[in-house]
Amino acid sequence: MVDLKELQKEVMRNKVEKGFSMEMANEFCRAHEELSEAFSKWNKNQDGVAEEFADVAVFLLGMCEQLGYDLEKELVRKIEINKNRKYKVMKSPDGKDIFIREKTDLDP
Ligand SMILES: [Mg+2]
Repeated sequence: MVDLKELQKEVMRNKVEKGFSMEMANEFCRAHEELSEAFSKWNKNQDGVAEEFADVAVFLLGMCEQLGYDLEKELVRKIEINKNRKYKVMKSPDGKDIFIREKTDLDP
């Protein structure tokens, strides 16, 4: 099992060791850039999509470490929220299903 807390620390250690910028706005932009690279490769049927996803995860892990978030805890919490969400299904004008999330007090 992967220890995301340890990976957060490892990503941060690497950034510090290399002297990389850790300016937060830049980190958001770089994470977005990596996701765009993944889409571009996927859209062109190129290899390397999974590696780009890993790049996104590396930025997320580093950002969580910088901001004091526990990504593993947040993932577990959010997956549970998503699992318990209820949706009503409606039809679009062209007959496709549209899922509308039902808001609750626990999940506004
Ligand atoms: Mg990349």
